[in-house]
Amino acid sequence: MNSEAEQKQPPEYDLETLRHSCAHLMAQAVKQLYPETKVTIGPVIQDGFYYDFFRETPFVPEDLKKIEKRMKEIAKKGLEVKRVELDRDEAINLFKSMNEHFKVEIIQGINSTDPITAYTQGEFTDLCRGPHVDSTKRLKAFKLLSTSSAYWRGDEKNPVLQRIYGTCWPTKEELKSYLERLEEAKKRDHRKLGKELDLFTMSEDIGPGLILWHPKGSRVRYEMEEFWRREHYKNGYELVYTPHAAKVDLWKTSGHMEFYSENIFSPMDVEGQEYVMKPMNCPFHIQIYKSHLRSYRDLPLRWAELGTVYRYERSGVLHGLLRVRGFTQDDAHLFCREDQIENEILRVLRFILFILRSFGFLEYKVYLSTRPEKSVGSDQAWETATGALEGALNKSGLEYEVDAGEGVFYGPKIDIKIRDSLHRYWQVSTIQVDFNLPDRFEMSYIGEDGKAHRPIMIHRALMGSIERFFGCLVEHYAGAFPLWLAPVQVILLPITDQHFPYTEEVYEKLLSAGIRVEKDLRNEKIGFKIREAQISKIPYMLVLGDQEAQSAKIAVRRRRSQETQTMDIEAFLSQLNTEIEEKTIDVS
Ligand SMILES: [Zn+2]
Ligand SMILES: [Zn+2]
Repeated sequence: MNSEAEQKQPPEYDLETLRHSCAHLMAQAVKQLYPETKVTIGPVIQDGFYYDFFRETPFVPEDLKKIEKRMKEIAKKGLEVKRVELDRDEAINLFKSMNEHFKVEIIQGINSTDPITAYTQGEFTDLCRGPHVDSTKRLKAFKLLSTSSAYWRGDEKNPVLQRIYGTCWPTKEELKSYLERLEEAKKRDHRKLGKELDLFTMSEDIGPGLILWHPKGSRVRYEMEEFWRREHYKNGYELVYTPHAAKVDLWKTSGHMEFYSENIFSPMDVEGQEYVMKPMNCPFHIQIYKSHLRSYRDLPLRWAELGTVYRYERSGVLHGLLRVRGFTQDDAHLFCREDQIENEILRVLRFILFILRSFGFLEYKVYLSTRPEKSVGSDQAWETATGALEGALNKSGLEYEVDAGEGVFYGPKIDIKIRDSLHRYWQVSTIQVDFNLPDRFEMSYIGEDGKAHRPIMIHRALMGSIERFFGCLVEHYAGAFPLWLAPVQVILLPITDQHFPYTEEVYEKLLSAGIRVEKDLRNEKIGFKIREAQISKIPYMLVLGDQEAQSAKIAVRRRRSQETQTMDIEAFLSQLNTEIEEKTIDVS
């Protein structure tokens, strides 16, 4: 490429810059159309952005159309986007003169003497750190999607704001394909499929955010859990079970009553003692640790539990299986010496990848979060642990990003997000080093030197929560689970009632071989039965008629295929077993 051509290339912007600039563009259009509206904040989120506005009436779909049209007009004008630096007072006066008191409040809350930056395009100026595109004409592919309401600063005592969500992409093609994925996501919504496939429900009589697993959903969950348990034993873990409630005092020692009480269900009185439902499993595993004197030779200890926890969430934020009030963590706690951290983390990372791949997730985003401003633990402890996490990540071959200062106050952590078939990322796995709880519970082991030492505690979850991970699986596979997870693996479709005896024979054979099999004995046409089985996303349909009964064979049809293959039962069974064993993913 010659240099002249290079100069003509428009600058390339990352998604964040494009989307953030688009949020400004939207705010400008809103201010032009509805001048009485006040602007607040407009951050970038996954796949798009939003902006929160203060006005009396919510935006309706007609408004969004108008705003989008105006945005396109402004974009076409190619207004220059200019960065200006202001000192604090100038900035406050500027936004006061514009009657934007939310912005004034934001500036007043900025705890620094650094100059304030703002960006101006045409008549519109917004407080912002940037960066931004150089001209509104760079914004070519955007769409406004939906509205909702939110509280200023997320606090219910504050004014209600009107939020508009939008998305923005570098090209029209990328926008189009994103909107298609969005449509597909609606069809795959786990709440919708959960009902259609009879997997789970919630009941008003039981209470919001508490899940009822129906037989079909339970079949999938059983397979998930059995696999999880077996693999934990193979990986050197022990499994434990702990109660669902405990005395308040335990949570005072752990610090949860002080720092986490708003998420804990209100206490109940049992014989004059206060108990709460457990929000976490950690203190229970610590109690098991403390039931014995531990030596350096005993470490590491790896204890895992499918532990059901209860957390109070406001009813407004509950969402299907993703935000609930009772859920089961695939939890584990490792207790080890400082010199064992790196190796333990590496083992956990490899284990995580194995489990996630088995469920069909092959793309990840990995984050290492380091020491935040407020933290417990010595400098040396943080350095050792963070170094161990880095060392393990490097050895694992995973690419990762460092989230500086985003660790928990008690230690550094690694988070893993998986990418689903619609290219959405789900936060699932987490590994956290903890210097805090071992101190609070005065845990110890006897070292080689004969003296007492504090063990290091590592919290980790692979799937995160069974409920959430299941919701993710439903959407990832659009309800068409791979054979090893499918609630019903094979359905038998006799052509007429004359074929019922043979159907019964095949049924017994498959059932006793451990296959999850059902039969459709309704008086319906075979074409209808096939369609119904396809809607139920059953991996295999066996059509049974005269030919099959006479030759003691079966006609096998896969859920995504038009073809039927005639084979004998033994061959079919061995094919099924291989597919189950290998956890084959049959996404077409
Ligand atoms: Zn901005
Ligand atoms: Zn824990």
